[in-house]
Amino acid sequence: MWGGGRRSRPEGLSEKLHLPTVWGGRPKAGWGAPDLNLLLYGAPGSGKGTQANMLREKFGIPHIATGDMLRAEIAAGTDLGKQAQPILAAGKYVSDDIMIGIVRSRLTQPDCKPGFIMDGFPRTVPQARALDDLMTDLGKRFDRVIYLKVPIEELLERLSGRLVCPRCQRTYPPGTAACAVDGSELVQREDDKPEAVRPRIEIYLEKTVPVLDHYRVGGLVSEIDGRGTIEEISRQVLAAASAPGARRPHPQARVKA
Ligand code: AMP
Repeated sequence: MWGGGRRSRPEGLSEKLHLPTVWGGRPKAGWGAPDLNLLLYGAPGSGKGTQANMLREKFGIPHIATGDMLRAEIAAGTDLGKQAQPILAAGKYVSDDIMIGIVRSRLTQPDCKPGFIMDGFPRTVPQARALDDLMTDLGKRFDRVIYLKVPIEELLERLSGRLVCPRCQRTYPPGTAACAVDGSELVQREDDKPEAVRPRIEIYLEKTVPVLDHYRVGGLVSEIDGRGTIEEISRQVLAAASAPGARRPHPQARVKA
């Protein structure tokens, strides 16, 4: 993770895309910038991870991906990992209490002070309410909820056969040999196997779609078509994250309604 007093921008997707003109020169976190808290919302396979990587490189704030955190627990063989493994494999959700506890301890880490990019949480309305309370406790608020909208049929197609880098978690289409960033051999995620893909989408429709209304009430949602090229979607995501309205003060109470 880079950031802090670093003056040069790292090479990354955003540089290749020549995005600074769209970005409009918002100072990067750690350069005395006000904090920037973004929430990426979308179904599994909608491209949240790809966009989160771009935003992390651009703003130098951490990417908090609850799915990655759970997979790290599983890989480390912790008690939580052992509990979570069959749940992830079946495409179901880990309990709200556990997830809220994980996110609470992560967001209170010092690297989240200048802001963060939340990905994969909240996935239920109780999680969204708990996150409101947590943000209030931390004296923070979300600047923007970025919704990557992709039709269900396309999600099913994208997830089945998708490959992932076990080291950096970047995802690739079927047939890709190695990670373009670190050269690792790609693998298929257990929950991208056909038997888990449909349950993941079903639980998303049932439990996670209502979360969007929770944020729409606060006027925080930017809806972006997640079907274009990565470059085009990145431009739109960055514009949403950098829009003057993204920094407009809004009372937390409206988000909590
Ligand atoms: P993701 O990488 O975001 O697709 O998450 C992979 C899996 O981790 C999900 O299918 C769930 O089993 C679990 N998971 C991740 N985040 C949450 C959450 N906020 N609430 C419940 N389960 C979660």
